[in-house]
Amino acid sequence: MGAHISIPMYQRAVPQRYRLIGQRCQSCGRINFPPKAVCKYCLQGTTFENVQLSGKGTIYSYTIIAGGGAPPEFAAEARCKGSYPVAIIQLEEGPRVIAQVVNPPEEGITIGMPVRAVFRKIYEEEGVTRYGFKFSPA
Ligand SMILES: [Zn+2]
Repeated sequence: MGAHISIPMYQRAVPQRYRLIGQRCQSCGRINFPPKAVCKYCLQGTTFENVQLSGKGTIYSYTIIAGGGAPPEFAAEARCKGSYPVAIIQLEEGPRVIAQVVNPPEEGITIGMPVRAVFRKIYEEEGVTRYGFKFSPA
């Protein structure tokens, strides 16, 4: 077993996972995603305003997950699909997120490539299907 995310932990994260809700720090104005108790940029801000993120971004960096290299929660996918790309996405509002890239172009992913968030099944644990965002070429 690898990373275990319990059902209550998963449910608490549903608003951010399902709707891409970030938080604007009232001290420095930058946007945290996923939400934090203390702003990760200024390390002081503790009051936030919810912000709907657009889901638009660009590829900041990426890697290809190949057989045997995947964390357990992605193992089923690796078995089905062979290798697949995972990227750091630079969101247009500022935060960077790590996510799988679906429908990668035949010629491969490139740094700076525009992408958009798509809602997908992520994995299943304790009999519950977990959903979240992946990114697709824009
Ligand atoms: Zn801040």
